[in-house]
Amino acid sequence: MTKKIGVLAVQGAFYEHIRTLEKCGVQCIEIRKKSDLTALPLDGLVLPGGESTVMGKLMGELELLEPIRALIEEGLPVLGTCAGLILLAKEIAADPVVHLGTMAIVARRNAYGRQLGSFQTIAEFTGGRKIPMVFIRAPFIDAVSADVEILAQVDGHIVAARQNNMVVTAFHPELTDDLTVHYYFLTLVDKALQKKKNLHRLTAIQVSDCR
Ligand code: GLN
Repeated sequence: MTKKIGVLAVQGAFYEHIRTLEKCGVQCIEIRKKSDLTALPLDGLVLPGGESTVMGKLMGELELLEPIRALIEEGLPVLGTCAGLILLAKEIAADPVVHLGTMAIVARRNAYGRQLGSFQTIAEFTGGRKIPMVFIRAPFIDAVSADVEILAQVDGHIVAARQNNMVVTAFHPELTDDLTVHYYFLTLVDKALQKKKNLHRLTAIQVSDCR
């Protein structure tokens, strides 16, 4: 069955994610209001780049923060890019604000400085292939907890990481033709779907045992 991925579409570069995900053969659902989260069962969620303060504020006003946080805590796979990374961080360096706060990382906003903050490079992702990385007024990750896997580093700074069902990049994979990061995210989606299936099977076995 075609996987259904929600893409937060309140601000920022959401259209580019939709275009990229469609190239990977999945169906995208724009998330603009609370009911979009439940209209169809989502298999994954993307939080795009943009301006994290504006996005966080809009998510609060649209009452999206609580339900999205709950879905992520229940195990829904999520990909956060750039501002999306900041939305997921449990802590933002030198900033008291926390938005979703589900991922045990410390994000530093505009970490490369505001003027020289936009650049491109090529670096390894998950210790494998080198991929193009576009940084736009990007954050990087200052610190991670022990169970966070570091997926990419540039100039000694963490720029991609995963903790359980959450994967984040400081760069914008949706602005290149390389599909590596999106396919990586979709493997998390596959794993979560498999886990759900196994759970259903287990429940069915237990029910039939009770007869
Ligand atoms: N500088 C933005 C912020 O702090 C993030 C930039 C981006 O998403 N490209 O929210």
